[in-house]
Amino acid sequence: MTAAPRATRRRLAPVLLVAAGCFALGLGAGAVSTVALAGSEAAVAGTASPAATDAVPRVTASAADDGGSTGDAAPAIEVSTADIDSPGSVTVVVNKVRPLEPEQFAPEDLVTVTDVPGGATMREEAAAAMTALHSAAAAEDAGFTISTAYRSHSAQAHLYATYAAEQGTAAADRFSARAGYSEHQTGLAADIRADGCDLEPCFADTAAGRYVAAHAWEHGFLVRYPPDSEDVTGYIYEPWHLRYVGIELAAAMRDAGVDTMEEYFGLDPAPDYR
Ligand SMILES: [Zn+2]
Repeated sequence: MTAAPRATRRRLAPVLLVAAGCFALGLGAGAVSTVALAGSEAAVAGTASPAATDAVPRVTASAADDGGSTGDAAPAIEVSTADIDSPGSVTVVVNKVRPLEPEQFAPEDLVTVTDVPGGATMREEAAAAMTALHSAAAAEDAGFTISTAYRSHSAQAHLYATYAAEQGTAAADRFSARAGYSEHQTGLAADIRADGCDLEPCFADTAAGRYVAAHAWEHGFLVRYPPDSEDVTGYIYEPWHLRYVGIELAAAMRDAGVDTMEEYFGLDPAPDYR
């Protein structure tokens, strides 16, 4: 964890901390053991099935540079005006203590992402931005394929239930997100792959991985689970998981040197379900 996000978190904390606290009151019980290696959508490496999306590899030293913490001044987005609660907001914050509300939320403007291999589905604005990102990346010989993007509540519920039946709830919670808690359900997230690196740390070292780490923000995307932030985001470094938040927020976070949405908006860390 770097010093900058902590400092910024304190500076930006005000009003939204209250909102976050209220939001958490609605959550159910069902404590889950803490798992730093849990993937929101995933299967533990070695137990992956075709139904799983994100694998959960070990974090490697090579994952240290996400390229997102330095740079030029950029347009700002006011923390106090960003809608981080509405499931249809492009700036919604979803994590293990902030489920989508309603948890059955499904976006209404899903479209197929054009001109990007993989045939994935995302919300219209995010899909257009993904096409633009891919075009820019491909122009630098850093093209990629989308492994998975939108995933419905029912698909996530089925996936989780399958794992829970096979391995028990406690084990399933270590590698599979509960329905309603996955960014993929917003239609704003996508997992991308290249050069044989699919949901693996090696993606960070591919041309595509390096490109998106440096340039995804220019198209409104974050590498949502940056290195060394499991205690904040609840997930290990996932260099392949891109989250669309819009250019204003992506640029503002980059300008502020803050890597996570939780820290930028002054929210409670979300290492595990409550
Ligand atoms: Zn993902």
